[in-house]
Amino acid sequence: MTMPLMKPRRKNPVLRTRQMNLPPFARGRTALGMTAAAAEGVFALQVCQRCHAVQYPPRDACHACLSPDLHWTPQDGAGELLSETVLHHSNDPFYRERLPWRLGLVRLDAGPTVIVHLHGDVPSPAPFHALHALPPERRQVRVHVGARLDRAGAAVLIGFPAEESEHMADDKMLREMTSDPKFRKILVTDGKTEVGQALVQAFVKAGAEIVWVGHAEPWKKLPGLDDITALPQVTLVPLDLTNGRSVTELAGEIGGKVDIVVNNAEVHRTYGIAARRGTDVAKAEMDINYFGLLRLAQEFGPALKARSADGTTHAAAWVNLLSIYALSNYPPHGTFSASKAAAHSLAQCLRAEMRPSGIRVINVFPGPIEDEWNQNLPPPKVLPATLASAIVRALKQGIEDVYPGDVAQEWVERWRENPKVLERELAG
Ligand SMILES: [Zn+2]
Repeated sequence: MTMPLMKPRRKNPVLRTRQMNLPPFARGRTALGMTAAAAEGVFALQVCQRCHAVQYPPRDACHACLSPDLHWTPQDGAGELLSETVLHHSNDPFYRERLPWRLGLVRLDAGPTVIVHLHGDVPSPAPFHALHALPPERRQVRVHVGARLDRAGAAVLIGFPAEESEHMADDKMLREMTSDPKFRKILVTDGKTEVGQALVQAFVKAGAEIVWVGHAEPWKKLPGLDDITALPQVTLVPLDLTNGRSVTELAGEIGGKVDIVVNNAEVHRTYGIAARRGTDVAKAEMDINYFGLLRLAQEFGPALKARSADGTTHAAAWVNLLSIYALSNYPPHGTFSASKAAAHSLAQCLRAEMRPSGIRVINVFPGPIEDEWNQNLPPPKVLPATLASAIVRALKQGIEDVYPGDVAQEWVERWRENPKVLERELAG
């Protein structure tokens, strides 16, 4: 059984902060299909459309019939552990710092045999000469294979025990692949919204050590704020993303301690182009949704990158609350959609800049949220608590792109199929 993670000791401030070494990440272009699926928490393999063979490792043609018609298809990951190897030596700097490291060979029920990182709760297979003495049900070690992104952002396969156990997420190897909020220090940039408050509650429940909560107008008494400030882990901090100086000041104070930044601050108005004169509202949306992210990333990004190898609770992730409207403009919320599209593009830049330090950038694309700006939209809408738990789950499972809610799920499918068709449908 995995031992529960103990609260790490405070860092000795005199000690040097270690630099991040990334795991090796060279992959061919074909293998990126596996990374794209793992970014959404899905284990997918190529399946031949002609002979239905399941293929691993990824290749350009089917290994059985040479057909190039291969589709990335989600797998259930059930399989048998054939053998295990424990590395006690490695020439790779990333693994050298993390030895010993378990690897396993798994034969998937779907066909292929794959090499996986082994979770600590998976028992070792019995040696061949001892097999006959075991009852038949113990001769096989059943595992469940899942795909995760490693610290370099490349897909790797992990062998999980067939049955879940209580402290599974605390496994040392698994924590290298994820950004679990447990014992981490988190900044939530806006505590005045329902989503912000649901996020704070969810992080405290997930074991966060400190949650700093941004509060743009500290003189305003807002509903719900008292409930979260009563939690011992929560500290309100002044933060106004439209004001560069406010962001700089807060970064100076807590920038070197934050492990996870969650940028949920947004301005949302329900206008297209013709419904309103002037550009004031659109500018206010851009100022928070786009420039706010830019200001935050410039001030908090460097400190986060510098602490990405800092012990068990190293700096780990950056979460952006975007919108499914970032993918395709929803004309009744036209200027808001445009500001989220800009933020999405910037978030891709941030991801590319953070990747060399092993900091994960998680983009969240919810459908309409059950809040005051979506009152006139019909259900289904995403409840703030549902959105918050989707974000905690993404951090725990190392997922990079999240589409919470039925609307977001449906739109992203349609967008993948044909963005032009979706554009026309939204315009109607
Ligand atoms: Zn084939």
